[in-house]
Amino acid sequence: MTDDRFRALPAVETLASQAGADGVPRALVIEAAREILAREREAMGADPARAAAGDLGARVLALARMLSEPAQGRVINATGVVLHTNLGRAPLSEPARRAVAQAARGYLALEYDVEEGKRSHRALGVEAWLRRLTGAEAALAVNNGAAALLLTISALAQGKKALVSRGELIEIGGSFRLPEILRKAGATLVEVGTTNRTRLDDYQRALTPEVAMLLRVHPSNYRVIGFSERPSRGELAALAHGAGIPLVEDVGSGALFDTREVGLEHEPTVLESLTEGADLVTFSGDKLLGGPQAGLVVGRREWIDALKRDPLARALRIDKLTIAALEATLAAYVDPERALSEIPTLAMLGAPAHALQAQAERLRDALASIDGLVVTVVPQASEVGGGALPGASLPTVAVALRAQDRSASALERLLRLGRPPIITRIQDDRVLLDARTLLDEDPAEIARIVGEVFQRD
Ligand SMILES: *Cc1c(COP(=O)(O)O)cnc(C)c1O
Repeated sequence: MTDDRFRALPAVETLASQAGADGVPRALVIEAAREILAREREAMGADPARAAAGDLGARVLALARMLSEPAQGRVINATGVVLHTNLGRAPLSEPARRAVAQAARGYLALEYDVEEGKRSHRALGVEAWLRRLTGAEAALAVNNGAAALLLTISALAQGKKALVSRGELIEIGGSFRLPEILRKAGATLVEVGTTNRTRLDDYQRALTPEVAMLLRVHPSNYRVIGFSERPSRGELAALAHGAGIPLVEDVGSGALFDTREVGLEHEPTVLESLTEGADLVTFSGDKLLGGPQAGLVVGRREWIDALKRDPLARALRIDKLTIAALEATLAAYVDPERALSEIPTLAMLGAPAHALQAQAERLRDALASIDGLVVTVVPQASEVGGGALPGASLPTVAVALRAQDRSASALERLLRLGRPPIITRIQDDRVLLDARTLLDEDPAEIARIVGEVFQRD
């Protein structure tokens, strides 16, 4: 009897033909047909009363369409979290987007000296910008912040020891834990001080001839407050230099500007770290800097040269599209005003209250005509994200949605399944769309998507 039910299922080829192709490559329709049949068989196996469903063709076509679109396609970020790691962190500036398109289309002088007509070094333009903007002797760009730190430790402390305060043994996320990175890079971690208090003489006492570097890490995603202390960079630098070894600082989010200018609290800048005596500073390209994913290292030439000679440098090297985007992003910093308006991350973080209010009202007005939806503009607080400025909250403006005939979580899901998906958050039984992270074209598009969703059922 069971067999009869299964025999009623069409063959893969038959189902694929029933589904029709509708411009979707046939190979994907076949893959979708296999997948839908497997799911249906499983559902029938689990439920002896279930007969073969009648809508298999439509399901195959829907899945095939989905497979033919990029799985990591565009979403509308209505969370208000500017540096959302799961949504790709920093959106790129217009010049950076143009530079990527150009670099992608043809060839570029990636490792080529045009004047001399011979091979040269990768990412010279990025390094020149980093030197210009920070005053550092030398610079290096690699794949991401974690890679920058791994390479630095490998090049400077392999087979030796590195001193780190117990208050700075961070985990950035998942597999990025400082003690493990040190081990992978072949260095021995020497923990000094305690979780809340580490003094200069803690470092001093641990400073043996096997120690190759002092490592200071910005606790970027948590905060030690209250009864706490750690030595200044100046003190650490003097101690390191007295022993002939470098002070390295991982500042994490890599602000090239004073975050107070956009109304945030102070976040250590790359320049401060260098000025106060760090020999190498490592940071990310796609956090507060507002560029593509990259790891940057600036500082003293002798140490940067050591990084470039390390075999890991090749494995961690930066891609040409990233170089193009990074160079165009850094170029905006030549004029701080221009950086604040041109780089989306900075513009969003620094968005004035009246602009957020206006954006929220545009969205409210665009949604006003949709039946069954109650739309209000509400003051809110959003976070920075990307492990930057923990605990800091930014006053923002959001549009709150309440549907007459469904729950907030059902509404959130509907928006998330829109094309493109709209990512929101729920608070007090309402779906919130934060104005801060919306692009100019988003209100109209959100209204179209929500309108379609509400018409559909
Ligand atoms: C974010 C962060 C990293 C890792 O940088 P990625 O670019 O995400 O690889 C390392 N150290 C600190 C302190 C950070 O905040």
